[in-house]
Amino acid sequence: MIMAAYDDQNIFAKILRGEIPNSTVTENEHALAFRDIAPAAPTHVLVIPKGKYVTFRDFARDGSKEEHSAFISAVADVVEAEGLSEDGYRLIVNNGPNGRQEVPHIHMHVVGGRDVGPMLKRWNKDES
Ligand code: 5GP
Repeated sequence: MIMAAYDDQNIFAKILRGEIPNSTVTENEHALAFRDIAPAAPTHVLVIPKGKYVTFRDFARDGSKEEHSAFISAVADVVEAEGLSEDGYRLIVNNGPNGRQEVPHIHMHVVGGRDVGPMLKRWNKDES
């Protein structure tokens, strides 16, 4: 399996090594959830696996069942801890250039606490 090369100097790698502080919401053996530094809503938490995976596909293909399970559990823990179950929330994973991924360590955004608006504008195939 060809994986994107992992950059050990990316900001989330530094957070995982404790070199940069973070506001942790929850943590388990294989996943860490912490508040986004530039929140888009009252709740904006990033959930990351502790392993070195760049994209969702890398994590899906090369992560273990235990890592996958821990990651999904951490997302649910955030939803519950932040009280988002009733009113709803959005989960976002940006991947690569077209996905506008800024930090090359897979992360899921958990966004809620307000109506987060429409998802994406409708695609017009005549536009670039
Ligand atoms: P992406 O565009 O890669 O899906 O999202 C990256 C996210 O990481 C952005 O929402 C950005 O605000 C957040 N971010 C960037 N640097 C830091 C940081 O040093 N600490 C935290 N907590 N979040 C960060």
